[in-house]
Amino acid sequence: MAEQYVKDVCKRLPKLELHAHLNGSISSSTMRKLVERYRQTLKQSSSDFSVTHGWTTTIHKGNKRTLKECFAMFKIIHTVVCDEEAVTMVARDVVCDFAADGIIYLELRSTPRCNPSTGMTKISYIEAVWKGVEQAVAESNFSIDVRLLLSIDRSRGAADALDTVELAKEYRKSSPTNVVGIDFSGNPEVGNVRELLPALKYAKESGLKVSIHLAEVPDVNNETSLLLSLPPDRIGHGTFLLPSNGGTIENMELVTNYKIPIELCLTSNVKCHTVPSYDQHQFGFWINRAHPIVICTDDKGIFSTTLSEEYQVTAQTFGLSISDIRELSKQAVDYVFDEDLKTKLREKLESDGIKSRPH
Ligand code: 5GP
Repeated sequence: MAEQYVKDVCKRLPKLELHAHLNGSISSSTMRKLVERYRQTLKQSSSDFSVTHGWTTTIHKGNKRTLKECFAMFKIIHTVVCDEEAVTMVARDVVCDFAADGIIYLELRSTPRCNPSTGMTKISYIEAVWKGVEQAVAESNFSIDVRLLLSIDRSRGAADALDTVELAKEYRKSSPTNVVGIDFSGNPEVGNVRELLPALKYAKESGLKVSIHLAEVPDVNNETSLLLSLPPDRIGHGTFLLPSNGGTIENMELVTNYKIPIELCLTSNVKCHTVPSYDQHQFGFWINRAHPIVICTDDKGIFSTTLSEEYQVTAQTFGLSISDIRELSKQAVDYVFDEDLKTKLREKLESDGIKSRPH
């Protein structure tokens, strides 16, 4: 199929994004606004390394970075997303970007963060995110539903993890449509999963949906078994789950027997070197097994991608037909965390699909 044709179809296709980290999804134009604001409004010293030299927080086409370098980028981003106003601007712009790319349902995840120097608290952070989401939904010409997952950063320890779960419980109770679950993420080379597991169990017992980054790096099979014991409602990446890639048969069987949906982020994995090339991505394995999978962006700002591009590169790498592409976007509805929206989303996909169907 011609590249331009697949590109157009993927762009017009109504899509669901289930794995997007807020601060990794910032476009370069929003990043420029943030850096300028940080310099001017907040009158930061121009000798501040992170903002004057290091603010290239995008890995452009053809470039790669190590996982460690990617995590260093988050530090830079967090420096400029330092108060509620910046958080709201980011959430608004990110939701508008996704809506313009044809996303009809977005599960946005973010780590509630306090900043004593600006007075931002975890609570004011969450509310600032939701304010930005509401602004985008009101302003956008496109129709998009947004739900939030609160992220546990595995490097921050058990008390912080428990605190995040409590916040998620509270927010789900007070505004049931916004926070739908918990994400477990952060630098996979840091943190003790055994200590963090009780918070994740508590989240599940509290009825929150839980998506877990696991097997993102090699040689973590014991940690992966612990995380799979929950079991998670969805898995992020799972790059090293397969026995052919250093995983264990037991772990792979758990994932297949429970049919745990896997959020696959091809460009992110290739650009971070955890997968050598698109054609060697684990997508090929799972699609052949008819295992539940969903294509996602992860950090569209950092990895300089869009969900349309992710569908396009997946289609071209694995020889998918137009109906395969449509089926992938349709199946994503089965895995969304807001059960109450599924019918509406299916209807929307069906009617939008008819409108956007190529002649
Ligand atoms: P935020 O939670 O600040 O909105 O988004 C950035 C954070 O998401 C990072 O600091 C990191 O904790 C998490 N994150 C983003 N991308 C990845 C990823 O690919 N793997 C993991 N494990 N965590 C990630």
